[in-house]
Amino acid sequence: MKKIFQPGRKNIYLDYAATTPVDPAVVKVMRPYFDKAFGNPSSLYKQGTRARAAIEASRKTIAGIIGARPSEIVFTAGGTESCNLGIFGAAKNYPPTKKFRPHIITSAIEHHAVLKPIEALKGEGYQVTILDVDSAGQINARDLKKVIRPETILISLMYANNEIGTIEPVAEVGKLLTRINTDRLRNGLTRIVFHTDACQAAGSLDLDVHRLNVDLMSINGSKVYGPKQTGFLFIRTGINLKPLVYGGGQEYDLRSGTENVPGIVGLAKALELVRKSKVLEDKRIAKLQSYFLERLMKIEGVRLNGPANGHNRLANNINIMIDGVEGEALIMYLDAKGIAVSTGSACATGLADPSHVLMSIGLSAKQAKNSIRMTLGKSTTKDELDYVLEVLKPLIAQLRMVKNFL
Ligand SMILES: *Cc1c(COP(=O)(O)O)cnc(C)c1O
Repeated sequence: MKKIFQPGRKNIYLDYAATTPVDPAVVKVMRPYFDKAFGNPSSLYKQGTRARAAIEASRKTIAGIIGARPSEIVFTAGGTESCNLGIFGAAKNYPPTKKFRPHIITSAIEHHAVLKPIEALKGEGYQVTILDVDSAGQINARDLKKVIRPETILISLMYANNEIGTIEPVAEVGKLLTRINTDRLRNGLTRIVFHTDACQAAGSLDLDVHRLNVDLMSINGSKVYGPKQTGFLFIRTGINLKPLVYGGGQEYDLRSGTENVPGIVGLAKALELVRKSKVLEDKRIAKLQSYFLERLMKIEGVRLNGPANGHNRLANNINIMIDGVEGEALIMYLDAKGIAVSTGSACATGLADPSHVLMSIGLSAKQAKNSIRMTLGKSTTKDELDYVLEVLKPLIAQLRMVKNFL
């Protein structure tokens, strides 16, 4: 892909886990749906039917990629909405009563798009168990099995973590739940619905919903070189959800409102492209990750947060703790040198609490604040990483020195 950023000054983007630039090929296929085939997809004349056909073709493309039926794909306005629809949609089938307080299980390192809806449900009387993770950020399927109760209705486990790149054992949990659900249905208990937030996994991991044995899967466009505010929720046939948005009944009555036709077309194209180049691109990125990490680890007082690379860690994710250097200060200085990195969570701008993910894997609040995340992507080159190393080494030394003077 051509560099999107202006040449002439350094512009090194290492925050692909926050969002990605839209692939020019994606922009191209979206273009006609802004002004040529702009019709309302529910209209019966040519402009409308053309828009409708584009939506259904996109649905088919996406279904093919994840091994689902087209009728199992509901388009939304992004990852957050997909997670909310999956979680609230499943939970609202079981309003808490005096006799039955439904139970939900999730992990401590979920994105806020999952944790906050579940917190809200807790406020409405649902029971909630938040599973601890190990020092690599992984949950243990045996621990999960132990906390399942007769009242359990929903489990939400992310596929890959956005801050430290941990890949969770989703397929293992899916298999376990398939067995558990067979027994439960025989015993007149509720079927446990299994949701996975796959927003960080969509570019590189296996998305086959049957191999994963998931009932609900959230994916967004903005992490796979597609447009922001686009996404979908996979909903397995037979799983009934309550809608969040009521109105004209679009998207199988689960997400009313005139469809974002260019967005949907762009999302499908983006996912298609990213899956096509996956094998080669993953190898290239993994090589860069090893190269970069090896050199970062040679800097004194630098430690990798999360799993070792190659061990259930996304190939594009590096999260490091730097002794005596505040992440937020470092980010500003790096920005001045034309390098964009983050503290991990791009969502909570403004007042930055220490990351709940880093605290969950055993870092102190201070260590969490001394951490930065660098995530690689399509445009990342070895030269860029060499430049970052060149800038980073003296900068870390300077920031430590300044700190000692204060
Ligand atoms: C980005 C992200 C989300 C939120 O997606 P939006 O499209 O920004 O709403 C949810 N979960 C994970 C793991 C993410 O990385």
